[in-house]
Amino acid sequence: MNNFPDGETFHDLGLGEPLLRAVDDVGYEAPTPIQLKVIPLMLAGRDVIGQAQTGTGKTAAFALPILQRLDPRQREVQALILTPTRELAIQVAEAIHTYSRHLGGVRVAPIYGGQSIQKQIGRLRSGLHVVVGTPGRVMDHLRRGTLELGAIQFVVLDEGDEMLRMGFIEDVEWILAQAPEEIQKALFSATMPPAIRRIADRYLHDPVVVETEHKTLTVPEVEQRFMHVAEQQKLDALTRILETEEVEAALVFVRTKVGAAELAEKLDARGYAARAMHGDMNQAQREAVIRQMRNRQVETVIATDVAARGLDVEHISHVVNYDIPYDAESYVHRIGRTARAGRPGTAILFVTPRQKRLLRDIERFTGQRMDPMKVPSEADVAARRATLFKESLLRTLQEDEGELQHYLQLVHELFAESGCDMAEIAAASAYLAHEGKPLVAPVEPEPESVPQPEDGMVRLFVDAGRRDGVRPGDIVGAIANEAGIPGKSIGAIDIYDRFTYVELPAQYREQVLERMSGAMIRRRQANIRPATTADQPADGSNKDKKRKRKESRKRKARKSSR
Ligand code: AMP
Repeated sequence: MNNFPDGETFHDLGLGEPLLRAVDDVGYEAPTPIQLKVIPLMLAGRDVIGQAQTGTGKTAAFALPILQRLDPRQREVQALILTPTRELAIQVAEAIHTYSRHLGGVRVAPIYGGQSIQKQIGRLRSGLHVVVGTPGRVMDHLRRGTLELGAIQFVVLDEGDEMLRMGFIEDVEWILAQAPEEIQKALFSATMPPAIRRIADRYLHDPVVVETEHKTLTVPEVEQRFMHVAEQQKLDALTRILETEEVEAALVFVRTKVGAAELAEKLDARGYAARAMHGDMNQAQREAVIRQMRNRQVETVIATDVAARGLDVEHISHVVNYDIPYDAESYVHRIGRTARAGRPGTAILFVTPRQKRLLRDIERFTGQRMDPMKVPSEADVAARRATLFKESLLRTLQEDEGELQHYLQLVHELFAESGCDMAEIAAASAYLAHEGKPLVAPVEPEPESVPQPEDGMVRLFVDAGRRDGVRPGDIVGAIANEAGIPGKSIGAIDIYDRFTYVELPAQYREQVLERMSGAMIRRRQANIRPATTADQPADGSNKDKKRKRKESRKRKARKSSR
């Protein structure tokens, strides 16, 4: 599963074949630092305190050893995982479901407030092995006797400090007190406030504390920037970076083998010369990719950490951290792939809403601040394309005079035949040469065409519109259900061809932005973000159509006049 002789693999950790296969299926190439430490300890039956946060791979760190050790033939709850939020409960349950796919018959479900309790009771009765739940609802089921801990072997507290912050700590203690004392327990928490430490002292047996320690780091001289993006925005953000930055060659880091292959394919489909490089490729295949990059046949390589070890291509001008690294150390390794041989280099880090903390961690350990940057706009992309186009036109005029002679003749003929002027002919050629990659951004609208929202309201931008079949009810429904805010508090909804504006009371802004990222609207995933003046509705798509119609009318008129 891993062609690299150096570094520890999942095989070395003592996990069985079905779990190794599942991990390989999801494309993990090597264990993360927290997994390297926690998995063997938990397999050996030790209690663990993991000082780790979201994004470090902590879920697999506790889930894999638990799955290895539970008995699917015994249809009773053997593991209980407590999480602070419904989202995390769902996410952890899904992860466990994925990791258990080759184990045969392991049943896991999330149990949280807000979902029908009867449904949950039904599920619990049907026989679950792992329950992932929020404290309040778990307590409720324990009190009703619909969840029993008679066969329980493992309890995990996930994001302990968050549970404390959200006021669940007493519930958590109550639940722990219901569980038999001698079972194995693990506690994960990004920080260790006194109340969490007290719980650990009281309920864990001789726990091993696992921190991801940091070696002293020599941070390379690289210009470092970061960008806030939703997961679904990453691909667009990357292509815009590739188009607007002065990229000689880019190395893009992702977390998994599958992720690398998919992203390379998507970029390729969009016309970028991209290749993947990951641990399922043999030495010769990887060397071929490096050679293509050196020869500049390939501009962008999508790599996993393991595959990029030792990769040394001098002209890599950009490192893009498409998926955030697990820790500061691997960040430093990654960005060290640029700024080689005295050249300048730029590193850009994508940060999704849940990863802000990892960003701070990295900054703390490198002792350097990263500069924030915005996702380049369509206008930025068009402006850069136009600059490059002008440059290459001028170069061609200066350098390829001979070649141009034939074309000049063609243009003169066209001029004589069509009656169009030379500038029009040149514009048409520029347009044709850039079909699908326009040199001119969608028309800038006049900001005053949209009234500002009322006081206390904010306007959000949703990237789905009439063309996607969106109606006001879809927007209200999605926001009310996904973000849990009252439908009647939603203000004006303006639906345009390709996008929609919706106004909300300002106090719901964060809640909606967080919960709606990637929500489904009309059976497609939609992005939602604060509206900016730059995207005031010109409804460019309509204008485009009108312009095209006008052009075609003109062409017809010319033809018939000949
Ligand atoms: P977590 O910290 O558990 O929320 O995990 C963060 C993300 O890392 C999830 O998307 C996991 O699927 C992913 N992940 C966990 N372990 C690995 C690994 N060893 N290699 C690559 N990705 C991983």
